[in-house]
Amino acid sequence: MNFFEVRDGELWCEDVPLRRIAEEVGTPVYVYSTATLERHYTVFRDAFAPRKVLVAYAVKSNSNLSVLRTLAKLGAGADTVSEGEIRRALAAGVRPDRIVFSGVGKTRRELAFAVEVGVSEINVESEPELDLLSEVAEVLDARPAITFRVNPDVSAGGHAKISTGKSDNKFGVSFSEAERLYAKASADPHLNPIGVSCHIGSQITDLGPMAEAFTKMRGLVERLRASGFNVPRLDLGGGLGAPYFDSPDPPEPSVYAAAVEKVLAGLDVELVFEPGRVISANAGVLLSRVIHVHERPEGRRFLVVDGAMNDLVRPAMYDAFHDIRPVTTPRQGANLAAYDVVGPICETGDTFCRDRELPPLDSGDLVAFMTAGAYGSAMSSEYNTRPLVPEVLVKGDSYAVVRPRPTYEEMLAREPLAPWL
Ligand SMILES: *Cc1c(COP(=O)(O)O)cnc(C)c1O
Repeated sequence: MNFFEVRDGELWCEDVPLRRIAEEVGTPVYVYSTATLERHYTVFRDAFAPRKVLVAYAVKSNSNLSVLRTLAKLGAGADTVSEGEIRRALAAGVRPDRIVFSGVGKTRRELAFAVEVGVSEINVESEPELDLLSEVAEVLDARPAITFRVNPDVSAGGHAKISTGKSDNKFGVSFSEAERLYAKASADPHLNPIGVSCHIGSQITDLGPMAEAFTKMRGLVERLRASGFNVPRLDLGGGLGAPYFDSPDPPEPSVYAAAVEKVLAGLDVELVFEPGRVISANAGVLLSRVIHVHERPEGRRFLVVDGAMNDLVRPAMYDAFHDIRPVTTPRQGANLAAYDVVGPICETGDTFCRDRELPPLDSGDLVAFMTAGAYGSAMSSEYNTRPLVPEVLVKGDSYAVVRPRPTYEEMLAREPLAPWL
């Protein structure tokens, strides 16, 4: 479900035609739908009713301040993985007691910042990190709430680069280490262990591995409680997939919630979730214009568009699939043809897809890369000195540029020449 729909022969975002945004803001440009963001967040939250859960939106999936603010106004928390993301969440109005701080390599400075802000939980991923946090907390005379991120050693499927829950991944501690470290932290006057957490990967479409991981996490909570520790909280991470149209649709949040409730039946515990993609992915598209259609004599047909891998890296990095739709609906009966859709960057990796069946397209036509709201602009760069792709947020019949395209002057001014030059 999303609010990008065809009306009067063209693609709209809510009550704004995408063509209008392309003309007024230029391309390439990301366009986000407020109604879609709001719907996804509330559907996820309400799936767990009457349980009160903290839904900490994973900021890294789309960290635009207006996106964060839209979710914060509904009461969303924030799952953050750097000082910068904590600062973004605070700037967007997320209360510190709804901020989760995760990440495999938090620096001393970042830990101190999180302790001073008073975040809801710091997810500790290793013993050296526990020791560092204890030192930092002692210096600040604080007692931060922590959970231990456990690596449940399950394969969640999905692409290897986004699978995080196997014991040979860099994330988290083992179950036995978690028990030992929980005892160590409980004896530390500067640490307040409040629970355990896990996050087994991203774009998960099969609930089996999730149920397996959550069952193991339940076992850990029960063992810790049997050893006399207070374990009020269980953080089950993010990872629920979004529909990209190249594979079976992932389960609905209600089905996911039912699977969680089944595993946790009878366990009294506060739940935290860290969903990213399932909230932001299909709330955004990357709008791009065709520069050329280049047909090779031997038959390959290239659609060269003005968006590139620096704007949307998922296909190059994860072999990810994005549905590509012409913004103007093709006339009835138009013949499909196979295109390789590529960007202008000097790398063969700058290929969005090969042999994709698309209706006839010509230079100047607009296309939308669908389901691009997560890990799209958040992973963008200025490679090839292409200006950082702008972002637009739509609400009803209005839109706002929520990150403008930098000018070349601004880009060059960021780099002072070395004084000896
Ligand atoms: C990336 C990440 C998430 C969000 O993952 P999604 O697949 O976008 O839901 C949640 N928690 C942690 C710790 C992460 O690193």
